[in-house]
Amino acid sequence: MVEKLYEGKAKILYPTNDAEILLTYFKDDATAFNAQKRGQIQGKGEINCAISAALFEWLETLGISTHYVDRPAPNQMRVRAVKIIPIEVVVRNIAAGSLCKQTGLPEGKILPFPLVEFYLKNDELGDPLLTSDRLTILALATPEQIEQIKFVTLKINQHLSEFFDRCDITLVDFKLEFGLDSQQRLLLADEISPDTCRLWDKAESDINARVMDKDRFRRDLGEIESAYQRVQQRVLEQIARKGEW
Ligand code: UDP
Repeated sequence: MVEKLYEGKAKILYPTNDAEILLTYFKDDATAFNAQKRGQIQGKGEINCAISAALFEWLETLGISTHYVDRPAPNQMRVRAVKIIPIEVVVRNIAAGSLCKQTGLPEGKILPFPLVEFYLKNDELGDPLLTSDRLTILALATPEQIEQIKFVTLKINQHLSEFFDRCDITLVDFKLEFGLDSQQRLLLADEISPDTCRLWDKAESDINARVMDKDRFRRDLGEIESAYQRVQQRVLEQIARKGEW
C-alpha cells in the first residue's frame, strides 16, 4: 500500500508514479463546526467524487482550468499536483450560514450581487474571515493572483448558478479552493459537492425539506444520503443533456 501524502477531513491524498499527478480518495467521513461534530454519511465519498468529477470536467469545457484529471474508481479522483493556496474562497448568492449569524441578514435574502469572501484556511484559528488588508499583509498569494481568483470565482459562480438552476436547485453559496501547479498556473482544486455548496431544492418551500447539502448533517435533519443522491442524479442527468441546452 502506498503511503498517504496527506489526510484531510473528507479526503486522503496519495502520490502516484507521476510526480505531477496525485490520487485523491473521497471518504464517507463528515465533519462540521470545525470538526467538533463528526459522523459518516454512507456513500458520500462516491457521490461527492462523481459530482465533483462531472462539474470539473464540464467547467473545463467552459475554459476554467481545474486540477481534475480523471476518475479511476467511484471514490477516487486523479488530480494535478498543486500547492494549495491556504484561502477558502466563499461565494454567496443568498444569505445563509455564517453570513446570517455575523450580520443579522435573514436566511434566504437574495443578495444584490454575488458576495466573494476570503477565509484563512486554518482550522486551529477557526478559518477566520479576512479583510482585504489582512489578505495583503498575509501575502498568501500575489495581488495579481487574488484578482485572478476573484475573476475566475465569479465566472464559476455564473456557470454553476445557471447549471444548478437547470437541475431545479438554487445555488445559495459555496466554497472553492485554488492551487498552483509546477508551472505556477492557477487551477481550481479541492471539490464541488453538497459538502461544499448550499443547495436548495426549488420544488420545496419548507426551509428544512429544501436542504440538499451538508446542512442536513449540521442541523440533524436526517435523510442525508438520499439528499446527496438526489443532487448526484440531477447533476449527472443535466450533464448528459448538455447538448440540448
Ligand atoms: N464551506 C466549506 N468549508 C468550510 C466552510 C464553509 O465548504 O470550511 C462552505 C459551506 O458549505 C457553505 C459556504 O462555504 O456552502 C459558506 O459557509 P459559511 O461561511 O456560511 O459557514 P458555515 O456556517 O456553513 O460553517
